[in-house]
Amino acid sequence: MPASHRLHRTKLIVTLGPATESEETIGQLIDLGVDVFRLNMSHAKHEWAARMAKSVRRLSVERQRHVAVLFDLTGPSIRTGDLKEPYSLNIGDLVEFRREGTEPTIPLSTTVNYGGMMDDVAEGRTLVVDNGTLLMEIRSRQDERIICEVKNAGTLGSRRHINLPGTRLNLPAMTEKDRNDLALAIACDADYVAGSFVRDAAHVHEIRHAIEALEGHAQVVAKIEDQEAVRNIDSIIQASDVIMIARGDLGIEVAFEELPILQRRIVKRCHELSRRVIVATQLLDSMIQNPTPTRAEVTDCSNAVFEEADALMLSGETSVGKHPLRCVDALVRIAARIERSGGLGYGQGVLLREERQKTARAAVMLADSMPDAKLVVLTRRGVLANHTAMLRPRSASFFAFTPKESVCRQLALTRNVTPVQMPFAANIDETIQRASALLVERGDITPGTPLVIVSDILSNHIAANSILLHHA
Ligand code: PEP
Repeated sequence: MPASHRLHRTKLIVTLGPATESEETIGQLIDLGVDVFRLNMSHAKHEWAARMAKSVRRLSVERQRHVAVLFDLTGPSIRTGDLKEPYSLNIGDLVEFRREGTEPTIPLSTTVNYGGMMDDVAEGRTLVVDNGTLLMEIRSRQDERIICEVKNAGTLGSRRHINLPGTRLNLPAMTEKDRNDLALAIACDADYVAGSFVRDAAHVHEIRHAIEALEGHAQVVAKIEDQEAVRNIDSIIQASDVIMIARGDLGIEVAFEELPILQRRIVKRCHELSRRVIVATQLLDSMIQNPTPTRAEVTDCSNAVFEEADALMLSGETSVGKHPLRCVDALVRIAARIERSGGLGYGQGVLLREERQKTARAAVMLADSMPDAKLVVLTRRGVLANHTAMLRPRSASFFAFTPKESVCRQLALTRNVTPVQMPFAANIDETIQRASALLVERGDITPGTPLVIVSDILSNHIAANSILLHHA
């Protein structure tokens, strides 16, 4: 899709699942403008995930689109054990959570997959089961078990997710399952790997080292899902390539009225520290069932677009929902409309810590001062393109030329960037001529269009950050 035909700058991430697994649907989603497909390893089987990754690659190459694949690792989540029958719980009931291999001491009892939980928790703290459907208070704690009092009626089933808001957990960054899933991700040439329940920068480094040990090139997405991650946000942002505001778990781990404030604060900090940011979860939740979004959802999506996040992510809406194509269409409509009305402008606050960021700022100022100009970044690894995009240039089209297909796919997630794969010539003048001719040939620009070209490879003889104004 030439950039001139693209209606919106905000990138779209879709989670694949039973509702979207056919090649026909994946093709339609790419045609609608999806930039990244997410495989949620909490649910995906290996054979299925490998097949999906392969289909996405083939269908996007057929369409000459650069589309990324993101493997989302389950992370160290706490889950209840298997129950013969779900428990029907009433207010005031007592429920026991115990280490695996121990015997129940009261009738309502289940194991948990993380034995260390008993050491981490304190009496009086809240325990939340199944994404907020059951709230409990921890009444007593022993070495091998805790007893909790039920605070609202509900059902406790098998392998339900447990959150412990405000409790610092000593869980590892990656489980054995995560390591197996990561090996698959690298074998499938994943563009992104997302770490769940990342709590500090060391967790991000551990994931990155594991990717490097497997000789993968995937970039790391850190999912911010609890209070500890929020406390360590600066170091996590700096250690990561991309931040995901995982509002599902985060909305349980903090008081819900804090969530909009945290979202805005994290988006702002990602701009300042020049890292891409994804807003995720429940953007169009009612569309799992209904063909149109609620007014509140439209407003929520608009808010994320207004904040100028790089990408919005759909989860259940596209993995199991009834209207996956309509959901993407809704996001395209909202993004295109809200972008026309302007944005919050956090790009003005980027901390310019490197010379190339300062060069990029000058190029963006130049491009923004010329209404017809297009911005072109020549970038080998995508770093300069990401820095430039973070400054949120107003110029409608922004092209990042790079020789590598994998870099093009990773730039698919960056707001407002149209990646273009093109080998660089030995001679810089020739590279510029080729880039400009290619844009004319693709129909992205007309001859004579002013191009503001920024690069750290413009000189043939010396490494230099440079800006060039060239007419196509
Ligand atoms: C979330 O909690 O918002 C999230 C994206 O993570 P997951 O879907 O893996 O729970």
